[in-house]
Amino acid sequence: MGRVLIIGAGGVATVAAHKVAQNSSVFSEVMIASRTESKCVALAKVLKEKYGTDVRTAAVDADSVEQLVDLLSQYKPDIVMNLALPYQDLTIMEACLQTGCNYLDTANYEPKDEAHFEYSWQWAYRERFEKAGLCAILGCGFDPGVTSVFTAFAAKHHFDEIHYLDIVDCNAGNHHKAFATNFNPEINIREITQKGLYYENGQYVETEPMEIHKPLNYPNIGPKESYLLHHEEIESLVINYPTIKRARFWMTFGQQYLTYLDVIQNIGMARIDEVEYKAPKADGSGDEVVKIVPLQFLKAVLPNPQDLGSNYDGETSIGCRIRGLRAGEEHTYYVYNNCSHQAAYEETGMQGVSYTTGVPAMIGAMMFLTGKWSKPGVHNVEEFDPDPFMEQLNKQGLPWHELHDVDLEL
Ligand code: NDP
Repeated sequence: MGRVLIIGAGGVATVAAHKVAQNSSVFSEVMIASRTESKCVALAKVLKEKYGTDVRTAAVDADSVEQLVDLLSQYKPDIVMNLALPYQDLTIMEACLQTGCNYLDTANYEPKDEAHFEYSWQWAYRERFEKAGLCAILGCGFDPGVTSVFTAFAAKHHFDEIHYLDIVDCNAGNHHKAFATNFNPEINIREITQKGLYYENGQYVETEPMEIHKPLNYPNIGPKESYLLHHEEIESLVINYPTIKRARFWMTFGQQYLTYLDVIQNIGMARIDEVEYKAPKADGSGDEVVKIVPLQFLKAVLPNPQDLGSNYDGETSIGCRIRGLRAGEEHTYYVYNNCSHQAAYEETGMQGVSYTTGVPAMIGAMMFLTGKWSKPGVHNVEEFDPDPFMEQLNKQGLPWHELHDVDLEL
């Protein structure tokens, strides 16, 4: 039915590729392109063996609009799934516009030299996508992604007005490493070392990093200390649901993780500016001064998130806790998914965090190709009908559960 191009061959792209291959009636042609083509080739081999899917591969530097335009004009995909890094969002959107392709991603744009994310850069493309009759679907992972669809589903079926929204993200898994991040370490550490931010009564309130925290109970897991973080979906949700009085995002961290993170920051390894470093020359003729970014160096020595799966037990639990009005009365609603790291690994070779991101990315592309989510412009996922997406979550390995009128603890 549709031709898809997956850009990136990391943890999230691997899961999405497995899911694309499992849904061959929707995805009739598949290409995986990334900076390191050998990773795409290795993934294509697995997909051929496991599902019989023929996958084309290509090398592309997605920082280069020119290279992307070449690739897109040759392959002519119906939709490009950007599962590389947030740094590449704008170049890929630009190339899509130049070649008439639709676009989907899982994380909003972030400049390399500034640990700062917001939608304005991508929303600036709205008019051009609209005029070109092309659709860009932003933030279609789990959070953002499923959490935004959960909110849309709550607004459609359970509330006349949403007043309080708390997105809660718990990873109660154990990878048995002293310190590792569950997705790209550079992006992950940049995100969680930022100041906290939440929305209340029409304005944003800033906090120190990890300043606000409390234990929250997660289904099938129990209490876990949860920290208020700045997270991107809040920005679009408070615009799309203007009755929201307060919106916050919480994520769990273990004490050991936080201690390591503290050390990483204190010794300067979370820095994203360049520092000079004396490195041996390749030809062995002494040393030369090279510039390195400490956080990128740290990424090179930390465990690769893709290798965590085999020894990862426990589960994730991510959901939305919502309070608001229905028929003039206050109600609460908690909708969530729990995902087992081991089950994710057995199916795709990746751990639960990659799984909970890659599956919704595939469903978003499926929504587009089946005509259920397709309107010209640049859209956050809550702007589409949540029902067919929610139905697919249950079918594609991320079943969700609802609790009504319970104590939300928040
Ligand atoms: P990985 O680091 O595992 O994979 C990133 C991939 O992108 C790698 O294959 C890498 O290639 C490739 N890549 C990087 N730069 C370029 C480039 N310039 N050109 C082409 N390819 C490039 O990351 P993850 O799979 O963990 O994460 C992927 C995305 O998913 C990220 O944007 C992340 O922020 C997002 N995410 C979203 C979540 C959500 O719930 N919404 C949750 C988790 C992640 P190479 O192998 O050569 O380095």
